[in-house]
Amino acid sequence: MIRLKSDAEKLGELSRYSHALLAPMPRLDVWEWAEKNIVLDERTSAIPGRFRTALTPYIREPLQAYADKTVTDLTLCFGTQTAKTMIVMIGTAYRIVHDAVPVLWVLPNQDLAKSFSKTRWQQMVEDCVPLREQKPAKRELFNNLEQHFSRVTLNFVGSNSPSNLASRPVGLLNMDETDKFAQQNDREAGALQLAQERTKTFPYPLRVKTSTPTTIQGEIWQEFLLGDQRYFFVPCPHCGSQIVFKFRVENEHGLCGLRCWRESEDEVRGDGGGWDMEKVRKNAFYRMQCCGQEIYDFHKPAMLDAGVWKPTNPNAEPRRRSYHLSSLYSLLGRETTFGAISVSWLQTFGSITKRHNFINSMLAETWDDEKAVDDTPIYRESYEIAGIPDGRTTIMSVDVQDHHFWVVVRTFAPPSQESPNGESWQLFADKAATIEEVVAIQKEFGIEAKNVVIDMARYTNRVAKWVVEYDWRGLWGEDKRGFLHQVQPGQNVQLLWSKVQRRDPHVGTPYQSDSNQMAMYVFWANDPIKDLLAVLRYSQPPIFHVSVNAHKSYQKHMNAEQRITKQLARSGRYVCVWHQFSRENHLFDCECMCLVRALQLALVPMPDGSPVPVQQHFSCMT
Ligand SMILES: [Zn+2]
Repeated sequence: MIRLKSDAEKLGELSRYSHALLAPMPRLDVWEWAEKNIVLDERTSAIPGRFRTALTPYIREPLQAYADKTVTDLTLCFGTQTAKTMIVMIGTAYRIVHDAVPVLWVLPNQDLAKSFSKTRWQQMVEDCVPLREQKPAKRELFNNLEQHFSRVTLNFVGSNSPSNLASRPVGLLNMDETDKFAQQNDREAGALQLAQERTKTFPYPLRVKTSTPTTIQGEIWQEFLLGDQRYFFVPCPHCGSQIVFKFRVENEHGLCGLRCWRESEDEVRGDGGGWDMEKVRKNAFYRMQCCGQEIYDFHKPAMLDAGVWKPTNPNAEPRRRSYHLSSLYSLLGRETTFGAISVSWLQTFGSITKRHNFINSMLAETWDDEKAVDDTPIYRESYEIAGIPDGRTTIMSVDVQDHHFWVVVRTFAPPSQESPNGESWQLFADKAATIEEVVAIQKEFGIEAKNVVIDMARYTNRVAKWVVEYDWRGLWGEDKRGFLHQVQPGQNVQLLWSKVQRRDPHVGTPYQSDSNQMAMYVFWANDPIKDLLAVLRYSQPPIFHVSVNAHKSYQKHMNAEQRITKQLARSGRYVCVWHQFSRENHLFDCECMCLVRALQLALVPMPDGSPVPVQQHFSCMT
């Protein structure tokens, strides 16, 4: 929903324009000049007709850089559908008309440069009277890549043609989609460096770089950081605070930012349990991080209109301006409504390429693994041990860190007719400071020593000593699909844990000896156990209960690893793998280790749903 301006408002604007026109000084602002002189063709613009900044008020300030001699570097790190190329086109038109300097316009490659010039730029030249008047009469002076206006020459070039980049000096350098530019190689400097060299002889050059970002190391992000890092602050219609639209913010108002459900994800799931994209689209809203109130698409125009750019980097050189804008600000099409953005986010689930692309192009943010985490809220329940049915087995798992431990205690009811996947209740999920504290937790919950499992993969000898001392069992995750076990000669089965391994806690030290008591441990198959955990976690109604008392980072740890689709570089084949997005995954590891032990004890079924093989053959660690 877009609020149209009333006639009175239009008149008000008109009178402001005419006032500005009559006044000899100062000159019109660039955006005002554009609204007066630029007409957009329906073939090249989503909003054809006389150019207006009403839907994109955020372009007014960066446009002004084209008329401001104190700015030498303008960086636009913008999401898609935010009119960033329009800024460059209008700014260049203004400059050619008002302040002639040679212009070089670099696009990622020559073909793109040609087609951009032909389909977008030249159309605009035709439709802008002061610009058209400067077109040469001779057609050979005006082609796709070289255009001799009456006072100035404009060249388009692809970043992949270094010879064209390194010739004449230029006063205005536009570099569009810099993160797709040809990279620097051993023999030649990168396109960007070559092009920038050419601006050096001008006293007031203007270098403009635009792109959706790629990685932190990418050109546009580095340039953004060098500049004064301006963000567009808009007022909250509820509380008046000025905020920057963010995809996700978590604070005292809960999970803020773009949302598509309020109490539970069920609101936007269909009968089969999958996302219902129509519901997502309809339900989507933005929860303000300032006050927790909701806003909808129809609030955006008035908010944008009252928006202001504010620099956030006081250390920048004053001549370097940099602007950041995500597509959450866009009013330029159906692809950027709150609903449409929510849908495209949900469609990225399970594909690292799509997710990467979303983060770059919609959020205008760089791709780094931390950001990619689906921080799906985890439902926590309140229950008393006394209220849980009898006949359970309680397991404790321990993850070892430098100076502390992560511990999960979970009690399992075995699979039954009603609950073929079993049911389990988390009793404890928190940090412990010392090994004595870990032992105390074991006592508190009355857990048998053989049902305490501890990670052996790090600090192996130290852990092996505890395993021996407390009669615990060690676990060691391996990147394997499974381990073969011989049931009888000639008959093997594959299980998710290895045969029992034994390890001298003093291995590699002078105390190593065959007479030492050995620590018992098994390897377990990482991905299949994580798959099983996912099946249990996402079962409805819940059978994998999480306690209200779990550590506050539980959700973060559990969401630290996600199953993603990855394309193998060599074969191009797609595979599903678990990817660790965040280092803080310890409670996730603990839950996995509990499951390994639960599997061995037939407290949960195998991931494919098959019953666990007869226990006495394989349950190594009893
Ligand atoms: Zn507010």
